[in-house]
Amino acid sequence: MKLTVFLTLLGRFASTIAHETLLGRHDIKTIFTGAHWSINTTVSFPGSDSFTNATVRWSTFHQPTYAVAVSPATEADVIQAVKLATSNGIPFLATGGRHGYTTTLGALNNGLAIDLGQFDTIRVDQHRGTLTIGGAVTLKIGTCSCPGMVGVSLGPGLGPWGGVHGLVIDALLSLHVVTANGTLIEVSKSSNPDLFWAFRGAGANFGIVLSATYQLQKQVNNGQVFVLESIIPNKLNHSYFDILEQYDGGKLPKELAIFTFIAFNSTTEAVQLRSIWTYFGPETEARNAMKSIYDLNPTITSEVTYGWNKVIQSVSGGSDYYQCQRGSVQDIYTINARNLSTSTYKDSFERLSNFYEETPAGRECLLQMSMYPNQAALAVPDDETAYPWRDTIAILDLLFTWKDDTSNTEQAVETLAKDLRRDLAATSGYPELAVYINSAHGDETLESRYGARDYSWRHAEKWERATRM
Ligand SMILES: Cc1cc2nc3c(=O)[nH]c(=O)nc-3n(C[C@H](O)[C@H](O)[C@H](O)COP(=O)(O)OP(=O)(O)OC[C@H]3O[C@@H](n4cnc5c(N)ncnc54)[C@H](O)[C@@H]3O)c2cc1C
Repeated sequence: MKLTVFLTLLGRFASTIAHETLLGRHDIKTIFTGAHWSINTTVSFPGSDSFTNATVRWSTFHQPTYAVAVSPATEADVIQAVKLATSNGIPFLATGGRHGYTTTLGALNNGLAIDLGQFDTIRVDQHRGTLTIGGAVTLKIGTCSCPGMVGVSLGPGLGPWGGVHGLVIDALLSLHVVTANGTLIEVSKSSNPDLFWAFRGAGANFGIVLSATYQLQKQVNNGQVFVLESIIPNKLNHSYFDILEQYDGGKLPKELAIFTFIAFNSTTEAVQLRSIWTYFGPETEARNAMKSIYDLNPTITSEVTYGWNKVIQSVSGGSDYYQCQRGSVQDIYTINARNLSTSTYKDSFERLSNFYEETPAGRECLLQMSMYPNQAALAVPDDETAYPWRDTIAILDLLFTWKDDTSNTEQAVETLAKDLRRDLAATSGYPELAVYINSAHGDETLESRYGARDYSWRHAEKWERATRM
């Protein structure tokens, strides 16, 4: 049994959402209003505020459509919602932070939204050193404060801590899960271990996580992070990309993360290169680690030491608030890279610059390059979890958005995005396009998302039982 078995089983679960229910909206309303729910559970239908609150997404691009939303207050109501959906052939999606943006979500039509918003508890067990959170809790651990922590964790939770603390899945101890057939199970190394392996990095299709428990780690540098923000004058962009390439081959110190943005500046009306360098360590050590960028003499906009939980809201002039706004088109393409390439980044800079000139409606599109150290992530054996890209050192996100609804803009944006993705993937160091599952656009091959590994040692029957409706 080869990789195909694993992928077929994944595909089988995915196919359960990739269709429209044959029932009419009236039938669905009867089914869900006819059931008995606990007092704090809300059942809502299109046209009401509570339905909007339960379903509004960060991105409207290829979003799912629903005939009904259930916001369960109890585990029993999650199970009931799943059973009503499966027994009536209604496709459904459980949501946490509603920041997922893969276009495959658009295959779900006229379905059931299971809004986990009431599963929002946070519990710290000081004795065991663990954190347990509900399935929809959002925490400030990544590049933005609003995605769901469980949603982020499953895919596998990447961020600037990868050098010191590892991936978020590496801290995961157990999950409390409702499976597709409505059974409540514990998933951990000792309970349903195959499913635990799959949940850690192969995405969110294996069941509904009501709560997740993580091992807490000791703070580094008392939780203080030194952050340098700067604007790189356009004439220095080649030298800046040369600096980035010097970190190729695992040379990024484990405490240092580098974010680079190629974007349009509406004040100067031109392309602009911006960077944020973060360091989990004392300021003097940080400045030393950042010597190359200081030597470049960029325009420094901020040099501040923050508590780790204040960084996201504070950097980029507080842009986190705007990044978290829901309800806009977000057409995103991502490339994982284990090699860095000055020439490709220079070329991307030129092409974005030309694009901004030619397509004013696309000027909010940008390329975000996040270079994450991966020493602690690499210390975990590759086959320990389903995440196949532990050697990734950069996540290249084409964050494309537009406001006008002419098909010309969409066409121009998509043409550029696909060209840039092809070229960035060609120098990424992976033989094919590689993308971590949470950031997949939706048109990638299964191998691009899950890795071309041999899964034959996994127990196929267990997968099937856990995933089939
Ligand atoms: C602005 C922004 C910043 C980001 N930053 C980072 C980052 O720093 N690091 C990183 O690794 N990723 C990051 N991501 C990507 C993020 O990991 C994914 O978008 C993730 O899927 C978001 O989860 P969610 O719960 O918010 O989304 P949702 O749309 O609610 O869910 C996305 C998928 O996860 C499933 N899911 C969510 N919660 C549960 C649950 N409790 N049980 C079962 N399935 C569930 C859903 O069914 C769906 O398939 C970012 C995304 C955005 C939009």
